[in-house]
Amino acid sequence: MSGFYYVKVPNEPVFECRARGKFKKNNIKPVVGDLVEIQAIGNGQGVIEIILPRKNCLVRPSVANIDQLMVVFAATSPEPDFLLMDRLTVLAEKNKLFVTICITKTDLDDRNNFNKVVGRYSNTDYNIIGLSNKLNRGIEDIKDVLAGKLSTLSGPSGVGKSTLINTINPNFKLNVGDVSIKTKRGKHTTTHCELLEVIEDGFVVDTPGFTSLELEGISEYELAKYFPDFNKFNNCQFVSCAHENEELCGVKDAVKSGELSKERYKNYLLLLQEVRENGGKY
Ligand code: GDP
Ligand code: ZN
Repeated sequence: MSGFYYVKVPNEPVFECRARGKFKKNNIKPVVGDLVEIQAIGNGQGVIEIILPRKNCLVRPSVANIDQLMVVFAATSPEPDFLLMDRLTVLAEKNKLFVTICITKTDLDDRNNFNKVVGRYSNTDYNIIGLSNKLNRGIEDIKDVLAGKLSTLSGPSGVGKSTLINTINPNFKLNVGDVSIKTKRGKHTTTHCELLEVIEDGFVVDTPGFTSLELEGISEYELAKYFPDFNKFNNCQFVSCAHENEELCGVKDAVKSGELSKERYKNYLLLLQEVRENGGKY
């Protein structure tokens, strides 16, 4: 298996690189999003010498240094799956990613699902953007949140992720980014993952983020931490309150008074059950 890495160097064409053998020996692989130092060896080719420390690194897909998760759902067709939405925000929080929620197809939003989303997350600082690719609505807002960041888009198929990227930039260039990877397996199959510079200095990974959605490695004691809106109300009697059956629980009180979304709390309980079944305890 031969691996080439395509490295973007400022003001230069993309370099086709191999990685130094020392990485392989230490079981380290450059991944998309890595910031690297290369040695040019002529003919547009180079060797990756150093991988700079990573801010974070997602697995499946392997992408490093992501700033933002853009969670994409349609207002309708398909109907939003709120449990999946909460799961994605938990994974983003776990990986310290900035969250933007993008609701597409607002031109079809008869049931006001966009406002429902705004209400559910009103105690978070998530960016929530309503969008219509069809009416070109909200595109400028999306450009603003993509600017200067490396983002990954996640959401079910059919919600308009590809359309969104094409609407933002009909001429986006493939093969652009800090590092993109092309691995050749077998005779004809080529798998690759690239960064698309959809606007100047705004990069998007071309494969969906978080294709594995298990809450692996999250313990029942830390789950609530990844619901940032709950944190505002956690004046509970017990520091380790699971906000479940405990008395004197600030989160449950806030749900009762309507300050916190009941549906979001229900999803928290479902995910809590799931991490317990995974055995994600200390
Ligand atoms: P993806 O699977 O998330 O990449 O979704 P696509 O970009 O392939 O879009 C799925 C379908 O939704 C296509 O038929 C698009 O034309 C349609 N679509 C995407 N965005 C919008 C929108 O904002 N409004 C409407 N009415 N249709 C849209
Ligand atoms: Zn509590």
